[in-house]
Amino acid sequence: MKKALIIIDYVYDFVADDGKLTCGKAGQNIEKKIIELITQFNKNEDFIVVATDNHELNDIYNREKNMFPEHCIDNKGRALYGNVEKVIDKNTNYLEINKNRYSAFCATALDLKLKERNVDEIHLVGVCTDICILHTAIEAYNLGYKTVIYKDAVASFNEKGHNYALDHFKNVLLATVL
Ligand code: ZN
Repeated sequence: MKKALIIIDYVYDFVADDGKLTCGKAGQNIEKKIIELITQFNKNEDFIVVATDNHELNDIYNREKNMFPEHCIDNKGRALYGNVEKVIDKNTNYLEINKNRYSAFCATALDLKLKERNVDEIHLVGVCTDICILHTAIEAYNLGYKTVIYKDAVASFNEKGHNYALDHFKNVLLATVL
C-alpha cells in the first residue's frame, strides 16, 4: 500500500503577510517542515496531493461568505506559498484537487483517486489546523484511512483552535500526531 502527503491550503491567501485570510507567522513557520516532507515523499515515490480552496468572487452560494473574507478567488491567492511549489516533483505521483468546502474529500475525486492508487495512509499538512485539516481528518476517519498529522507542519490563525484540533486528531479521530 502507498502513502500520500496531502498539502492543504498552503497558499498565498492563507500564509503570506497580506493574504486575504492569513495565518501569518504561524503559517510561514511550517514551510521548512512541509518542504522536508515533500522531499521525503518524492524520494520514496509516494503520492503528493495539493488540495486548495477554489472560490469564485461574489458567489452568493459560497457558504463561507458571511464567516470569512473572500479568499482563493484568483491565481495569486491560490498559488502555493514560498518554495513549496519548487520542490514538488509534478512528473510522477502528483495530484491537484480543487475544493469548495473545508474537507479535501467533499465533492472531489480525492477518495477515488487515492483508492485507485492503493493509498491507505494519508499525511496531512498545511492550514488551518482546526478548519480544513480537521474536516479532512474527520472524513478520512469515516472513510477508513490511516492518518498522520505533523504538529510542526500544520498551523492556524486561531491558537486555541489549533491546540484543540491536535488533541481531537489523536483522541477522537484515531490519527497519529507526530
Ligand atoms: Zn474557503
